Amino acid sequence: MSDRKRTENHIQPFDLSRWEGLDPATIAVIAGRGPEEPGQPINVPPMLTSIYKDNPGNLYARDGNPTWAALEETVGALEGGRCLAFASGMAAVTAVLDGLPLGSKVVYSADSYTGTRIQLDRMAAKGTLEAVPVDVTDAAAVEAACVEAALLWLESPTNPMLSIADIEAFSETAHAQGATVVVDNTFATPLLQKPLDLGADIVIHSASKFISGHSDVIMGLAVTRDEGRFEALFHERTLGGAIPGPLETFLSLRGLRTLPIRLEKGQANAMELARRLETHPQIESVIYPGLDSHPQHALAQRQMRGPGAMLSFVVAGGADAADKACDRVEVITHATSLGGVDTSMERRSRWEGEHAPPGLIRMSVGCENVEDLWADLSRALD
Ligand SMILES: *Cc1c(COP(=O)(O)O)cnc(C)c1O
Repeated sequence: MSDRKRTENHIQPFDLSRWEGLDPATIAVIAGRGPEEPGQPINVPPMLTSIYKDNPGNLYARDGNPTWAALEETVGALEGGRCLAFASGMAAVTAVLDGLPLGSKVVYSADSYTGTRIQLDRMAAKGTLEAVPVDVTDAAAVEAACVEAALLWLESPTNPMLSIADIEAFSETAHAQGATVVVDNTFATPLLQKPLDLGADIVIHSASKFISGHSDVIMGLAVTRDEGRFEALFHERTLGGAIPGPLETFLSLRGLRTLPIRLEKGQANAMELARRLETHPQIESVIYPGLDSHPQHALAQRQMRGPGAMLSFVVAGGADAADKACDRVEVITHATSLGGVDTSMERRSRWEGEHAPPGLIRMSVGCENVEDLWADLSRALD
């Protein structure tokens, strides 16, 4: 009995060579299937247990769960690192921030997810860390802000302005200062952008969005290649306790299986809607990385495999006209959040602390027929 050790359970071996030469669309479908033995189910089922019969590997389900491991293996294979699943995107965000030494300077994209900004502000108010917002379209500003920083927090495309951060260049800038680089890859997904390949140290996801993809799950993920960072995040999860539910993890992986085709369709729809909106008389401006008119179109083309399924546009009549359009849509859902098969939109500046122009609508473009989407949207705008 004495040689029984508590080990890190259910952590996939870090062996990405299995996926070499395969397209991400294939990896999303075939990774994370669990044991290969004959008679095993093709999908790892939701493992509903809190304890495991005592053995050297598995003890308690706050440490690990085979259903998490299946999702983690798949996302790890797609991002090119080792993945940990968390209870939510914010749980993953907080695990990274909580791991910083007291008083660390965090430089973050001023145009970031609201929850991340609020969390940074709260921690700064308590004196846990110093939070410095920066405009990620301004390389000189990023370089100046990174002096003596411990962490550079990037999001790209940003929310909701869909600005593109130059992940490769800023990773070099931050690393020169000894800072860790985190990229929230929720909007792009690993199918369109692989931040670890571009030099980032940690990738964060709200898998509640495109990865799960059906507006029915809250889930978070963190991915890294670095052994030490992985261990630290593992302990933040186990001891912080922000672990996902087995059923939610199962649903996330089921959703992820179809991410390649959902994204392809959503992106094609977004491109078509963006082009049509550009010539619509009620629209002041359209912000979409796939348009030539996007100020960082060339960088987006270089850094991403595609412009994604998120689209922002500014309605000419300001907040009132944008609110009316949101009220009138019928095929499109008026809702916050994003990344589902269903198209949704909302006026961003209705949220406190959101810096978007008053008439800006952010749209998450889904998989409906594009003519139905256009008919609904143009009716709502007229
Ligand atoms: C939604 C979101 C989060 C937070 O994730 P939850 O799963 O809602 O906790 C973080 N970052 C981005 C970019 C998001 O869209």
